[in-house]
Amino acid sequence: MTTARRIDGKAKAEQLAESITGQTASLLKKHGITPGLAVVIIGEDPASKVYVRNKKRRAEACGFYSVQHTLPANVSQPEVLKLLDDLNHDNAIHGILVQLPLPGHLDEQAITQSISPSKDVDGFHFINIGKLTAGHTADAFVPCTPAGCMLMIEDELGPDLSGLNAVIIGRSNIVGKPMASLLMQRNATITVAHSRTRDLPGVVRNSDIVVAAVGRPNMVKADWVKPGAVIIDVGINRIEETIDGESRSRLTGDVDYDAVCAVAGAITPVPGGVGPMTITMLMFNTLRSARLSAGLED
Ligand code: NAD
Repeated sequence: MTTARRIDGKAKAEQLAESITGQTASLLKKHGITPGLAVVIIGEDPASKVYVRNKKRRAEACGFYSVQHTLPANVSQPEVLKLLDDLNHDNAIHGILVQLPLPGHLDEQAITQSISPSKDVDGFHFINIGKLTAGHTADAFVPCTPAGCMLMIEDELGPDLSGLNAVIIGRSNIVGKPMASLLMQRNATITVAHSRTRDLPGVVRNSDIVVAAVGRPNMVKADWVKPGAVIIDVGINRIEETIDGESRSRLTGDVDYDAVCAVAGAITPVPGGVGPMTITMLMFNTLRSARLSAGLED
């Protein structure tokens, strides 16, 4: 029985963060610029609070100027837009992100689209989505999760995916669709599967690369997987279980990890795979934005 290589997203993210920290120090030394990241959190969602805390911590560790704006759950739409307008005009800030999901009364699309495309380090602005889709990535921001997945896929298979079949399970704007664009640009033949796809196991069985971004624990089974395939598990699912009479919660992905390990060529674990890469790609985009603002990027 073979065992898939475990793709260590945590270690790769650490390595990348080290390089970002070095480049940040040199940007300050040579050009007097410190990348600035502003994170806006609205309301009390516990998972969002953890994500925001981790982003702030990582930004500071990279040597960034980092600010957090915490707004009450009942903040009005104009108040949010005013804050974003101020941040758009603040020269010390190169990256702005609004942590999703937002409280129901706020218009998520209007808020996301009010961030200047040149500071949209999440890559959610239509300008950045359009540039990515058209293959103009030189000055576009690519959404962090698919960008991180792409780096891990490249590590396994190299930059040219000609002749390989890839399936992305999930068609969200933040993961599935940009992931499809990135894989297509690397010459993979792609299928985007979703809740209406017929015979998903059959589609997966035909794929050399599988990116699972659904939010269903252990959905991708071992007998769906082509031997040797590279599996990127984006899903984050919290499972409650009882061990020795004690109730505990743990995180699991969308892939039945232990069983799939026996068939796949390489696989990302959850936790420790895509998650840490996502946060580090946010730092990558913010550094890039600071460099672009000073005319220092290609
Ligand atoms: P979403 O909730 O917006 O969309 C889920 C997608 O899954 C939809 O396109 C839907 O069509 C598809 N789907 C639902 N049921 C299906 C089924 N039975 N078969 C096939 N497809 C099905 O998704 P999202 O925001 O992209 O998030 C997906 C998962 O990835 C979640 O678990 C989320 O927490 C996780 N996530 C992780 C990171 C990270 O950094 N690791 C980042 C973003 C999202």
